[in-house]
Amino acid sequence: MSNADIIVIGDGPAGCAATITAARAGLEVVMLGRGRSSGAPEYLSRASLMLLAELAPRLSRETGIWLDPEPLPQSGRALLRGKFDPRFRIEALDAGARYVPLAAGRVEPHIARGKICGVHCGASSIASPVVIDASGSNGWLRRAMQLEESIGSPALWLERGLAAAHSHAPDHHWQIAQQGWLWINTTSAGMIWTSLSTQRDTTVHWPDGVWPTGKRWRDCRRWRCLQQAAGPGYFVCGDAAVQLDPATGDGFRFAVESGAWAASLAAQLLRHPEGSSLLEALYSDWIVQFYVSRKAALAECYANASML
Ligand SMILES: Cc1cc2nc3c(=O)[nH]c(=O)nc-3n(C[C@H](O)[C@H](O)[C@H](O)COP(=O)(O)OP(=O)(O)OC[C@H]3O[C@@H](n4cnc5c(N)ncnc54)[C@H](O)[C@@H]3O)c2cc1C
Repeated sequence: MSNADIIVIGDGPAGCAATITAARAGLEVVMLGRGRSSGAPEYLSRASLMLLAELAPRLSRETGIWLDPEPLPQSGRALLRGKFDPRFRIEALDAGARYVPLAAGRVEPHIARGKICGVHCGASSIASPVVIDASGSNGWLRRAMQLEESIGSPALWLERGLAAAHSHAPDHHWQIAQQGWLWINTTSAGMIWTSLSTQRDTTVHWPDGVWPTGKRWRDCRRWRCLQQAAGPGYFVCGDAAVQLDPATGDGFRFAVESGAWAASLAAQLLRHPEGSSLLEALYSDWIVQFYVSRKAALAECYANASML
């Protein structure tokens, strides 16, 4: 049995943000992860880049992860997640965290008297007063503890990848119709695209002179939100707490912001355990407010296109 101040489950953007924030607050952090990332391209909003610049300033100058060499003023920047995520993990380790790679096997929460107080991981256990779940769409704690969630949409089929174009094709494309939408953006290293369909196996209509190339990354999502994203001994952040769809344009920002906020509230909770219920309520409420506001904006946009 080993001990930590905070255990973070998941090593994507939310997990790395939580780990860096907690380690910089002087806490002993253990991050458990699978070291895996989708190689998909992604577009980071200006707000995402600003958060990243605070947490891991070296990453903006890193070569090999960005599809755009520099962010454009008032604009975002595209990257390859398969290159970015391993670099973000190194930043988490450099902040002083301990990383436990999970080759196989299950991680189980250790619950005593209704409170999470660590995890069991194969033959070993780690004791900790706070566990942060940043396991993404895997929803580790939701499934382990049967946490209640709200489901806000039918199944939505998502695809993304790289594209090629004739020279006369437009640099940007956004088209929404009853069956879904297609977004295409030109980066310095080529075009990236994301599509959403309301029906499985529906092919979106591509503009003239542009076509998808290479691997396609597929997902199926529903809008969903945990009703209690924090409780006795736990915080849930990123996609594990809220999933919407890429039309919000800020999945990455929310992952990093919620990871960092969960970690700083966890640090406060360790200093003032008597205020734990208040901190948990504050965080859970913030998560629900984020979901409700973004969901309303998406629903209005989709209703205008007679989509959902
Ligand atoms: C098609 C599509 C396009 C998107 N495009 C954009 C975009 O352009 N811009 C944008 O901002 N957002 C975009 N998003 C959203 C964005 O990818 C997510 O919001 C973001 O990755 C969430 O980060 P996360 O850390 O919460 O989860 P993840 O990125 O999923 O990371 C979770 C990590 O936890 C690990 N893990 C899972 N289970 C366990 C476990 N039991 N134990 C230990 N580790 C575990 C996983 O291996 C993974 O590394 C898109 C999403 C989709 C589906």
